[in-house]
Amino acid sequence: MEKVPLSKCLLNDEVKQAAMRALESGWYILAKECEAFERELAAHTGTKHAIVSSSLTAGMFLLHKAMDLKPGEEILVPSHTAFPSIEPMIHCGAKPVFIDIDETYCMDVELLEAAITSRTVGLMPVHLYGHPANMERIFEIARKHRLWVIEDCAQAQGAKYKGKTVGSMGVASGYSFFPSKNLTVMGDGGCICTNDDAIAEKIRMLRNHGRKDKYTHELVGYNLRMNEIQAAIGRVGLRHLDALNERRRAIAAHYNRRLKGIVKTPPEQSWSRSVYHMYVIRTELRNELAKFLQQRGIGTGIHYPTANHQQPAITKLYNDLPKLPKTEQAVQEILSLPIFGELSLNDVDYVCNSIEEFYGKK
Ligand SMILES: *Cc1c(COP(=O)(O)O)cnc(C)c1O
Repeated sequence: MEKVPLSKCLLNDEVKQAAMRALESGWYILAKECEAFERELAAHTGTKHAIVSSSLTAGMFLLHKAMDLKPGEEILVPSHTAFPSIEPMIHCGAKPVFIDIDETYCMDVELLEAAITSRTVGLMPVHLYGHPANMERIFEIARKHRLWVIEDCAQAQGAKYKGKTVGSMGVASGYSFFPSKNLTVMGDGGCICTNDDAIAEKIRMLRNHGRKDKYTHELVGYNLRMNEIQAAIGRVGLRHLDALNERRRAIAAHYNRRLKGIVKTPPEQSWSRSVYHMYVIRTELRNELAKFLQQRGIGTGIHYPTANHQQPAITKLYNDLPKLPKTEQAVQEILSLPIFGELSLNDVDYVCNSIEEFYGKK
């Protein structure tokens, strides 16, 4: 057992009671708990609709289908993100055009215009590690070139950009409830948020065999639904999300104070209210430090060790991949330290003391 794990899910009596309630309800798929979860998610994001699905990857695929993404169309997306960010568009035949990062690890907005071609249809910022991308500039460019914006909010549920909740600004946004995320359903799950009635309606149909009602199949769809037990668990987590996000911010501030001058701490823009899904430091001694911390029972992670434009699945597909120097250097140096809402500052101090020890400062 690790002394300090990288992340940990909220598992209290409230969660257990919610799961039991759903188990005993006699309804297991897309019923009352899912409907309530959708209403609560939409209210939390500040959008008209939330549509839950079996994962974010599934939801994003349904969203691309609902928006009629076509083969050959191009989407500007950071390379430095979880691989599933780009899978759904590729399944639609569209092409990810990879953009380098800025110092916050989000897509560098100053590189977007040069990457736009006649085939570009949209921009997909990823609010990586919980830090919002530079949305004002992204929308300026989107408006100028008539492109849509989809926000990948898998790591940033509840984060704010200039006071606006991420996921409420683009045509649609995606959330993941995978166990490592800030809000989890103790398994796979995800949702799409949107203000667009037609897109919402189409995703609802597509996720459930193209059904308009029980016996009418308006479209040829899929089975990418969420179940009641997980929705009931997610509803509990959502009630605690803002408080747990605030705790993450306090933990990040404590790390910042302790680690300043020892390693490169994560920058936060003045307009950002990050939810610190990850607390990512940088050091040229990354692998050595990770090993040292592991020996002290401290869980660390690398998000991510290989940039997507260098993944074998991608280099096999495209022969015009760009060079992204900042991304390629970052993946060598980044290290994610333990962070989750219930992590104690004592444990944070233990991590920081160990890092000081590694650098021989004690
Ligand atoms: C986790 C994650 C996904 C995928 O979400 P799933 O629910 O696991 O499909 C996509 N994008 C980002 C940025 C993620 O962190």
